[in-house]
Amino acid sequence: MITIHNVHKAFGRHQVLKGIHLTVQKGEVVTILGPSGSGKTTLLRCINYLERPDEGQVEFGGKTIDYKHPSKKDILFLRRHTAMVFQQYNLFSHKNVLGNVTEGLTVARKIPKREAEEIAMAQLERVGLADKAGHYPNQLSGGQKQRVGIARALAINPDVILFDEPTAALDPELVGEVLEVLLEIAETGVTMIVVTHEMEFARRVSDHVIFMDQGVIVEEGSPHQIFYQSREERTKKFLHRVS
Ligand code: ATP
Repeated sequence: MITIHNVHKAFGRHQVLKGIHLTVQKGEVVTILGPSGSGKTTLLRCINYLERPDEGQVEFGGKTIDYKHPSKKDILFLRRHTAMVFQQYNLFSHKNVLGNVTEGLTVARKIPKREAEEIAMAQLERVGLADKAGHYPNQLSGGQKQRVGIARALAINPDVILFDEPTAALDPELVGEVLEVLLEIAETGVTMIVVTHEMEFARRVSDHVIFMDQGVIVEEGSPHQIFYQSREERTKKFLHRVS
């Protein structure tokens, strides 16, 4: 359902992605693991063109888009069919929770306000925050802010949600509530690509695990294959270090 081919990305002379191929099926949860600096976030941001790849293609929703020369329409198409959940939440501080979740619906999708609010409330319910609809981001904990970010992504009903280390900025005691919400969403068949350092979460939730190092996919497979039967030294070393 989404396939990326041969994605390359450099920042100056630093080759951060060196030819990435990745296929994600509808309803799958794919987690991307790897040491700091291995290119995980850059890969995620390349998928929807938040970062401009130097080379590569994406096949998505029956279209093939050349990352090197996308038309404006292609970029709009990628943005319309994907949503991103950021490590730092990226909420509008001057809008309340409901306003944050309806923004993408009323502005980008042109959905009437009343209908957008109904959709938003349903998603806030889903992440356990319906009672906080009138609060502003500075009145929320980090875990609650991230759950708003997740509700906002769900509200636009994208084909795939890209999660960029969604718990990395949280105090340890708030990580669990966000992972719990992610687990629940995963069970409802939402297609998810998740960059994470949470190994136990990856083991529990993934249909497919990708291990990256130094800009390449070193190994990929089921959680069982990666966590218990990895074939590559680099994967074994990394997992040994972090678990
Ligand atoms: P982490 O787990 O620490 O978030 P990561 O695997 O997600 O790491 P990336 O954030 O993709 O790694 O970064 C990969 C490399 O690219 C790093 O060396 C980083 O410094 C570099 N990099 C990322 N974004 C930029 C940028 N905008 N300009 C220059 N270098 C960048």
